Order: sequence, then C-alpha cells, then structure tokens
Amino acid sequence: MKTKLSAKNLNLSFADKQVLKNISVSFAENEITALIGPSGCGKSTLLRSFNRMHDLFPYAKINGELFLEDLDLYAKNVPVTEIRKRIGMVFQKANPFPKSIYENIAYGLKINNLPCNKEVVQKALEEAYLWDEVKNDLKMPATRLSGGQQQRLCIARAVALRPEVILMDEPCSALDPVSTLKIEDLIKHLKKKYTIVIVTHNMQQAQRIADKTVFMYLGEVKEEGTTDDIFNNPKNEMTANYISGYF
Ligand code: ADP
Ligand code: MG
Repeated sequence: MKTKLSAKNLNLSFADKQVLKNISVSFAENEITALIGPSGCGKSTLLRSFNRMHDLFPYAKINGELFLEDLDLYAKNVPVTEIRKRIGMVFQKANPFPKSIYENIAYGLKINNLPCNKEVVQKALEEAYLWDEVKNDLKMPATRLSGGQQQRLCIARAVALRPEVILMDEPCSALDPVSTLKIEDLIKHLKKKYTIVIVTHNMQQAQRIADKTVFMYLGEVKEEGTTDDIFNNPKNEMTANYISGYF
C-alpha cells in the first residue's frame, strides 16, 4: 500500500505542555485508519496538525516532518489553503455554514476557484449519500437538516473539493445508531477514492470500518497494526486494557 500521509518525529507543545511526543505514523492510500485512545491523549491534536490548524496559536510549538506524499506540509511556500483543499476535515459536531444546502457546497468551490454549478453540487451530495433526501430542498437552510444529514452535508462539502485525504474527528459521536451506521457505510464507500483517518471512541465502529488501527496514550503512539491484530492480538498491555474498556 502506498503511503499517502505521514508524520515523522512529530513533537507538539502548547506553551510548556508537550501534547505529542515523537510521533511517527503513516496512513496508506485507500485505507481507513482508526485513531483510538483515552480522552486527552492527543488524537485531535495529531489530526489537526496535518491541516496546520495550530498555525493561529502563537503558543503552539511544532516540529517534525509532516508530508502529503512528497509535499512538505509545513514548508514556508505551501499555502495553507492548498493543504486544506487536499486534506479535508470533518468534525464531531456537524458545522454547516448558516446558509442553504446548495450554498454550503458552492461556497468552498467558489473560494477555491473550482467550477461551481448544479451538476457539481449534485455530484458531491450524491457522493455523500444525501442527494435523494435533499434534492427538492436545496434552498433550505442547512441547519434545518437532522444531525446525521448535517454531518453528511459536511462530508459532501469536503468531497466537493476533490481532496486526497479526509480526516474525521469523532464524526458519529453526536449521532444516533441509525445515522451512525449510514455514515459508516458512506465512509467505507469513500475509501475507494480517498485516504481516511477517523478518530473514534467506538470500538465496534473501529472494528467495523477500519483497515488499520493506531492506539495513542499520553501523546505517544503505543501500538499500531491491522485492526484485526490490534483487537484480537494486542501486543501492548495498555492497548489490551483500553480496548477491553478497562480505562
Ligand atoms: P484527544 O482528542 O485525544 O481527546 P486532544 O488532542 O484534544 O486530545 O488534547 C490533547 C491535550 O492537549 C489535552 O491535554 C488538551 O487539554 C490539550 N490541548 C488541546 N488543544 C489545546 C489548545 N488549543 N491549547 C492548549 N492545550 C490544548
Ligand atoms: Mg479529540
């Protein structure tokens, strides 16, 4: 499998608190990787560092090598807009813009100077398994959609930009089981085109959808491997404790 996204010797501190400790990890093309570990271990911070979301925090100190294929994500001449176009992000709480469903997709296309028309918007909504449910309501405010629909809209907004990677930070944590399974189906379908990294606290979810699983603890990657190995044959005692719900 070809490596799409990687971090090597990544250290990140907020002021004097080191949150990521010498992390080296890579994510393969067309695979789903689950990032698991107790709250506060640094999963979101790791995900966000690929998108340079700490650029605006003057007290965040980051060093290490982060690459999207051969693109150095922290090189001075790489615009953050290009990175965020190529690496999409979906958050725990669906955050549609306070605009219509149509405009939620169109906005990102326009600011990235991509072709924007009804066909492109339809295609993105189809790809996110949402088109059939909203095709007669494209002018409706997105905030009127259900939670699960709003999250699929956020996924549509990300895929509309034709990214290579989609980072998902607990995308189903706020959703009911039916909406969750719908999004899991969608994620499995998206991996044919994209590299996907998903943070989840739902161990069944990781086992249902992830090819690989990475276990983090206190800012470090403690163990990584195929999801099957991590859940059925963990090598690290902490991994074993965590997946069995011990802490
Ligand atoms: P997780 O997603 O695994 O729950 P986070 O990456 O959100 O963990 O947080 C890791 C640690 O970094 C926590 O101790 C958290 O309080 C701290 N942290 C996260 N974001 C910031 C920030 N912007 N400023 C200061 N500390 C932060
Ligand atoms: Mg988090």
